[in-house]
Amino acid sequence: MHAASLTVDSPPAATVGIIGAGQLARMTHQAGIALGVDVRALTPRPTDPAVLAGAAVQLGTHDDLDALAALARGCDVVTLDHEHTPPDLLDELVAAGCCVRPSPAAASFASDKLLARRALARAGFPVPAFTEAPGGDPDAIEAVEAFARQHGWPVVLKAPSGGYDGRGVELVTHRGELDASRLAATPGRLLVEEAVPIAAELAVLIARRPSGWCATYPLVETVQRDGICHELVMPARVPTQIAHRAARIAKSLADGLDVAGILAVELFLTTDDELVVNEVATRPHNSGHATIDATATSQFENHLRGILDWPLGDTTLLAPTAATVNVLGPDHPVDLRRSLPVALEDPRVRVHLYRKAHRPGRKLGHVTCLAPSHDEALDAARVAAAVLTAP
Ligand code: ADP
Repeated sequence: MHAASLTVDSPPAATVGIIGAGQLARMTHQAGIALGVDVRALTPRPTDPAVLAGAAVQLGTHDDLDALAALARGCDVVTLDHEHTPPDLLDELVAAGCCVRPSPAAASFASDKLLARRALARAGFPVPAFTEAPGGDPDAIEAVEAFARQHGWPVVLKAPSGGYDGRGVELVTHRGELDASRLAATPGRLLVEEAVPIAAELAVLIARRPSGWCATYPLVETVQRDGICHELVMPARVPTQIAHRAARIAKSLADGLDVAGILAVELFLTTDDELVVNEVATRPHNSGHATIDATATSQFENHLRGILDWPLGDTTLLAPTAATVNVLGPDHPVDLRRSLPVALEDPRVRVHLYRKAHRPGRKLGHVTCLAPSHDEALDAARVAAAVLTAP
């Protein structure tokens, strides 16, 4: 058979452009293969995780309209694997007739913590007490102090955009620490909020079609250290009524934002059993990685189905519990060629590696284990992740 007839006779079920080519794009591409969906990723680096997994690549950057337009050409829909694309460029793509999902409005909501806090509070969603301060200005110190007088120390300072994995978040425990605060000294807007007494960090993942059909995943409980998600379990170890409350919050947010694809809602469960919304992401999310192995349909497949306006897949958990442990780059170099076969000696663990260059603290992969109990799942996943990162 001629190559030409192959290309004509076997078009993809759909072509999806992804702005970014990191591990989220990589795992979305992986889900796309099963559905016959082609993924094309925009990145200046042909060694990014999605490209190494075989996704087509559009070389260019997310802040270049020509590159974005080149990505969109021939795609049924364009989606994102990070929040850094300037919203006005997404607006221009839409104005040029491209289908961008999530919509630029929903995407920009997720990319600006201050904008999101204000909109959530206005819409009546529970959020931590917060205010805006002018960073880099002597007034910033005064504004933070005034906020602390009202709400108490410590306070949390956040850069409204550009942060991830805890970068751009500072806990300031008393007045003396303020002078040394890097964020308070940085020019620009500053989000100042109360330090919430956290009993558990939770995340709801919900998939949505443009028509409004939603599929909610079992509630996830995450364990964060220094602002980085280290591990998570599913379902969360909280009473059922809290899980229902969290799901209701996520559903009304998904509808309010008119989300297409995955919406991830990070929540704090306070020591008083209140739920407050911390962050919102309008894309597949680290807290949903267990869904690849642990639920009938992964968050990545349901993101594709949602943005393509296809019926959503079943989100049922396939085992009593599942745990995922992130493989974070240790301070020493790692040799995965040696450690991977050792980690795989436990037949219960599922290892996912992103093929990212090693750097301390960087997410290099994750390990998931399904088991009859949370402890068993966590223990097995922790052991495998530790083996992978051993010196
Ligand atoms: P990032 O965007 O880098 O993930 P987050 O806003 O999610 O930053 O904050 C990172 C972590 O910092 C959270 O998971 C939580 O552990 C802690 N944190 C953030 N905001 C607060 C707060 N208001 N009170 C207490 N802890 C917080």
